[in-house]
Amino acid sequence: MHMCRIARVVEETSIHKTIFFDIEMKAEPGQFVMIWIPGVDEVPMSLSYIEGGTGITVEKVGEATEAIHGMREGDMLGVRGPYGKGFRMAGSKALFVAGGTGIAPLLPLIKRYRGEKHVVLGARTKEYLLFVEELKNISSLSITTDDGSIGFKGFATEMAEKIMEKEDFDIVYTCGPEIMMKKMLDLCMERGIEMQASLERYMKCGIGICDSCSINGYRVCKDGPVFDSNLLATMDEFGRWKRNEAGRRIEV
Ligand SMILES: Cc1cc2nc3c(=O)[nH]c(=O)nc-3n(C[C@H](O)[C@H](O)[C@H](O)COP(=O)(O)OP(=O)(O)OC[C@H]3O[C@@H](n4cnc5c(N)ncnc54)[C@H](O)[C@@H]3O)c2cc1C
Repeated sequence: MHMCRIARVVEETSIHKTIFFDIEMKAEPGQFVMIWIPGVDEVPMSLSYIEGGTGITVEKVGEATEAIHGMREGDMLGVRGPYGKGFRMAGSKALFVAGGTGIAPLLPLIKRYRGEKHVVLGARTKEYLLFVEELKNISSLSITTDDGSIGFKGFATEMAEKIMEKEDFDIVYTCGPEIMMKKMLDLCMERGIEMQASLERYMKCGIGICDSCSINGYRVCKDGPVFDSNLLATMDEFGRWKRNEAGRRIEV
């Protein structure tokens, strides 16, 4: 655990902030860190920036993330990691499908991917879209919003399906709501395309001890958070069940 100074805070949307730390971290796209907010909680966060700065992009959803949103440049946070298995580079033409904050772990991967890249970026509404300008510069970008406030009106999966009907891809990378990723898995399995997805589960330790993030016997913190389609297809809990803070099984 390193106590790190916040070097810069970027207000991305009304519910998202990117926090840059004053450290260099050797990490792979898709890996995460555990962020300790003294006196509040410790929570997992993907690295959204790896090169030219170390950063996380935080959506305000509850107590810990609200406390992070209240922090300013110069404040200190505990950082453990990087942890987990990140994305594996594959093929020479990739489709990236992101829902909401799910674009966070995909951003460093999109930057590093050397082949042709098409990104489908989905959000509930225009004001929650993340990294649009950065993505426009490095990929072919399609935007979808649930309410049609910008781009295609509908889900990211619907746009991804349209694109996959017209073009062939070697690999699909995805992160976002699990229902979305399950739909992407079905689309990829039908077409025989490999997929890698970054999963989210409730985590306490982040290092494979507590088992609270288990899915079909795999630990999201250690065996994931990125899993490939061959393994996901064998997991009957994927897209259906997760565990809450008490370890009780609840619907995704
Ligand atoms: C590998 C991984 C990477 C993640 N990356 C990001 C990211 O880049 N940006 C981002 O905004 N969020 C990310 N999350 C989710 C983030 O960890 C939770 O939103 C955060 O822990 C919620 O804490 P809270 O106290 O603000 O909310 P709470 O009030 O505790 O809960 C709000 C919601 O978050 C879930 N949650 C709470 N604690 C945890 C926990 N320790 N682990 C997982 N889920 C939890 C709850 O089940 C609930 O659905 C990631 C989660 C994982 C597992």
